[in-house]
Parts: sequence; C-alpha cells; structure tokens
Amino acid sequence: MLPEMIDGLTAWYDANKRELPWREPQPSAYHVWLSEIMLQQTRVEAVKGYYGRFLEAAPTIAALARLDDDRLLKLWEGLGYYSRARNLKRTAQILMREHGGVLPRDPAELIKLPGIGLYTAGAVASIAYGVPAPAVDGNVLRVLARAEGDFSNIALEQTKKAVAARLLSAMPKHAPGAFNQALMELGAVVCLPNGAPRCGQCPWQNSCAALREGLIGQLPVKSAKKPRAVIERRLFILRCGERLALRRRPEHGLLAGLWELPEAFALPGDLVVSRESAGSAVHIFTHREWHMTAERVVLSGRIEGFSWITQEELEREFALPSAFSGFRAALFA
Ligand code: SF4
Repeated sequence: MLPEMIDGLTAWYDANKRELPWREPQPSAYHVWLSEIMLQQTRVEAVKGYYGRFLEAAPTIAALARLDDDRLLKLWEGLGYYSRARNLKRTAQILMREHGGVLPRDPAELIKLPGIGLYTAGAVASIAYGVPAPAVDGNVLRVLARAEGDFSNIALEQTKKAVAARLLSAMPKHAPGAFNQALMELGAVVCLPNGAPRCGQCPWQNSCAALREGLIGQLPVKSAKKPRAVIERRLFILRCGERLALRRRPEHGLLAGLWELPEAFALPGDLVVSRESAGSAVHIFTHREWHMTAERVVLSGRIEGFSWITQEELEREFALPSAFSGFRAALFA
C-alpha cells in the first residue's frame, strides 16, 4: 500500500467517521472487545441499543464475569449467534482468574481466549492499546482486493494471512488503531459489497485498480459456499390458561441453552380443547435453514416436561431466539 494511500485514508476517516457509542477518544479494551463481538455478523444499527443495555447490566469485566446466565442470554435476545454471549462471559471469568481482570495487550495472548479470533485480537490490541496489529475482516478484504486489483480468493485462510502481513508492514506504527478503523469504515460505508461502491466518495478513487480497470463487479473473488441444510420443523404453541409451554434447548450446539417452542408430538386427546394452524416461518442460520410450521393448541391441563410461563415472564426473563419471531404474535393471542 502506497504511503499516499495511507495518508488519504486516515484524513478521510478523520473527516467522515460515524459517531458510534463505542467510538470514544480513548476506548477501554473492554468496550472495544464487547462492541467488536456484537458487531460480528450484525449491523451497526442493530447493535447500538444492545451495546448500551449490556454495559448498564455489566459495566465492567468483573460484572460480566458475575452476570447470571439467563440475564446474559436475555440481554442478547434477538442478536443471534448466542455462543458469542457465552464466550464473553467465559472470557471475563478467565480474565478475572488469570489476567487481573484486564484484557492482555498481546494479540497472541488475546486469541487464546474463548470467542476471540485474529480479527478481534487485532482490533482490541490496536484500538485500545495502540499495538501495531492488523484486523482483517470481510470489509477489509473486499476493499483491499478492489484497491489492489487482487484476484486471490478471500474465503481462503492463506489470503487472509497474506493480507494481514501486508497490512502489518504498511500500517503507521504510531496510530494502528485509527488505521484499522479507517479501513473497516471505508468498507462499511463507501466500498460497499455487491458491486455498489460509492467510488465518488472514496479517498482511493485515483489509485484504485478495480475502478481504473473496470473490475469492481469481479472483485473480491470469494468461493461459493456450500448450500445450507434445510430442516423441516413442526412446532406446537401449547397454551393452558394464561400460560405457554416452552422448553430449554440442549446446553451444546445451535442456540444452546435458549428457550424454544416444543416440537410436535402425540398429544393426550383428553386434554385438547382446540387446535388450529399458527402459520409458517423460515429462519436462516449460517449453515442451515429451519422451515417451520406451528399449530396452536389449547389444553385443559398442563403436560409434564415443559416450563409453563406467562407473557410477563417471557418478556422479563426467558430468552426466545428470533428464529421464532414469526410466531411471536400467536404465542399469547
Ligand atoms: S475506488 Fe471504489 S472500488 Fe476502489 S476502493 Fe474506493 S470505493 Fe472501493
């Protein structure tokens, strides 16, 4: 990367960066870590409210380490990828036990912690501690592939490593955090995906290889993903009086430990007062799709094996993943 590209990028960032709750003049490592974890796979606009609420409940790493599991999942409800929340707490507990309650400065130490990969380690080390470390995410890979006219497949680890090495040697050692954030910001607001970059606003419009050579539609190169597995689910919305039946998902795997609607099973006929369709919904995860139909069943008595909860209890303390949001209106109808 040419020195004038770096200067242009940082000047552009200073003049154009968005005001975001986690962009403080001297952000703490905790704040950088929390915001970066929340922003994985999630839009900035969606994260803003969660970030503030989370910090109210857990203003410090010590408070996060002590946070009750159900409260943790409730705070995360709707953000998805719930293992992120569990790893935050696990890491906070390790930090309290082994690191005096602070995040290490060294990226090589940071990546040993649950839920922290190379990208997050680089972001925390550079933004909070000023350590020269690259932070390579999908945005950064896209921007650089276009700016440099690089046809390497960005889905490959070797490409990410090569980009990280180039960035490490190019980044200004006195301001690595600002440099990393500038690059991420450029990818997030100017060099947009799917062939729609705003090159007229880009500080690199005079040097960008993709713009000069008409390659924007072809870059970045990314290998096709495997198709997602489709899983058909028949669910029950079981009601008894004012209460709804929920069950907890297993402690491991997808949506571990969260609550869900029961899978359809053979109902005891003498308890069934009425039953009707509650429609269908599709939820898309990274590697699978749930195609769900639900039936709303009113019972005259409770069936064993479920938690029977009121609407108020659901709002207050039961984390129901957004996979079920298509049925939310029918739960207490
Ligand atoms: S000039 Fe356009 S394609 Fe090139 S880096 Fe800037 S926004 Fe991306």
